[in-house]
Amino acid sequence: MAEIVMTNLVKTYPGTKNRATDDISLHVDDGEFLVLVGPSGCGKTTLLRMIAGLESPDVGSVHIGGRDVTDLPARQRDLSMVFQSYAIFPHMRVRQNIAFGLTMRKTPKAEIERRVAEAAEMLHLTDYLDRYPAQLSGGQRQRVAVARAIVVDTGVLLMDEPLSNLDALLRMQFRTELKRIVAKLGTTTVYVTHDQAEALSLGDRVAVMRDGRIAQIGPPLDVYDAPADEFVGGFLGAPPMNFLPAHVDRTGDRVELVLGDQRLPAPDTLGGHAGGTVTVGVRAENVEVADGEAPDRVAARVEVVEPTGSAILLTVDLAGRPVKVQTPPTQRVGAGDTVWLAVDPNRMHFYDPATGAALR
Ligand code: ATP
Repeated sequence: MAEIVMTNLVKTYPGTKNRATDDISLHVDDGEFLVLVGPSGCGKTTLLRMIAGLESPDVGSVHIGGRDVTDLPARQRDLSMVFQSYAIFPHMRVRQNIAFGLTMRKTPKAEIERRVAEAAEMLHLTDYLDRYPAQLSGGQRQRVAVARAIVVDTGVLLMDEPLSNLDALLRMQFRTELKRIVAKLGTTTVYVTHDQAEALSLGDRVAVMRDGRIAQIGPPLDVYDAPADEFVGGFLGAPPMNFLPAHVDRTGDRVELVLGDQRLPAPDTLGGHAGGTVTVGVRAENVEVADGEAPDRVAARVEVVEPTGSAILLTVDLAGRPVKVQTPPTQRVGAGDTVWLAVDPNRMHFYDPATGAALR
């Protein structure tokens, strides 16, 4: 069992005011793939380095597989790491680079050969085993770094932005490959990225971090579909969730949102906020361009039309605010057109305008 338990981890770097991690407690299950995601400086790398033993917490503890490793140096924690600056040795061939951890552990030669061949196969490096790093592309070098980490077969794999040096296409291909490999190995993995798409696609769970804390943690689609606050809704998803201030009005048993001089039906659950103002959050793909005027639709003016291939992204002006709308590629609208928009009340999210927290 290689579950990781972090308890109350606090870290402040000398000479800085703010906590890099502010009392973080987290449990990563055995075999789970957890992604730490968040904007630059939110504390992802610091948290990972405390699991690795490359940074010590001021307060708190780290347990790996039931063992308290808080005071153990990195080399005694039995884990593998891949970092952004994937330091592979330039003077060693790919074969020796991949074998490095096994050689250090004095693994028998025949077993080293078998495991290197296996890892090379998994990462499509078999044909490159006799090359030096300088004779490889960036993507191939990155794969060598991953092969070197997984070959050792520790229970825990830590990765910090391992795909950051790849171009967009390679990044996507390698992401798929990595997911397949890690699932096959069943290694407990903690993966740091600032790329929300990578987080959503890779993690069994994602932990969205902000200012040294976990803003929300859960399976990717749960977090995507029900962001706990405006920050998470704005961080996950491309484009980010739309946010609009709206007045809540109740007439009889009908609850409506008032946006400028227009109205949209709201779920009954919002009735408790009647007379007040809320922030409405809605994702671009949950706004529909409807085929004409109706009482439960609002009019908006199209400002920008951006085809993305699989969809068209519209920026419309709704009651003086820009709103992103994702429509099928067959939608024929142009800048300057007026469109009628419909939103399923069940796909709307509501936030407290003062705190940004989701309204329950
Ligand atoms: P990025 O995505 O930019 O790598 P991150 O989320 O990984 O960011 P950290 O590197 O963990 O964030 O940094 C968290 C905070 O701690 C930041 O405010 C950063 O400036 C600070 N910090 C990190 N390392 C040090 C250090 N060695 N000395 C002082 N402050 C540091």
